[in-house]
Amino acid sequence: MPVKKASAPRSVLEAEQARLLAMIAQMEIESDDSLGYSNHMADDATEAFEQAKDMALLQNAERLLEQVRDALGRLDDGNYGKCENCGQSIDPARLEALPYVALCLRCQQRLEA
Ligand SMILES: [Zn+2]
Repeated sequence: MPVKKASAPRSVLEAEQARLLAMIAQMEIESDDSLGYSNHMADDATEAFEQAKDMALLQNAERLLEQVRDALGRLDDGNYGKCENCGQSIDPARLEALPYVALCLRCQQRLEA
């Protein structure tokens, strides 16, 4: 086996996009299913909790998908790997771990502080 090479960001992002789209589609199918039998469960707290959890997961996946699409857009513009806030290069190790990040670690930390 050849030595494992870092994948090109585009293929990583496209794979991530495909994974998220499949996950979102799956979650939408599942939530449609549960609505199908929902007549008796108005007071079922567990079910409501599960639905809220699914909703949070779905929103999380959609937010991530948006970030992945933004990153693909930055690749097209030639801005990939640059911090959207300060314009400095994002640490390659950070990009490797989170290929869709838009901010360098410093800006991210400042934002979260
Ligand atoms: Zn920055």
